[in-house]
Amino acid sequence: MNPIQANPETTGVKCPRCSELIKTSIQELITSSSIRCPKCSLQLVIDKFKSKEALSALHKVQEVQNRVNSKSKF
Ligand SMILES: [Zn+2]
Repeated sequence: MNPIQANPETTGVKCPRCSELIKTSIQELITSSSIRCPKCSLQLVIDKFKSKEALSALHKVQEVQNRVNSKSKF
């Protein structure tokens, strides 16, 4: 199972402790080193999620978002 949900509306990481969806942006996931769960304060080191699969899923979301953005300009 991929812990990162590739939905642009609810991009986030599911907390492994309390199952809360920790909302974060794709940019934050790529650039930050860690995020904190707002519910149980568990700190997640994002490096653990930077697997090939997770990153390719994120890039797909970004591609779709870029496409949507460029379409809306025309
Ligand atoms: Zn949590």
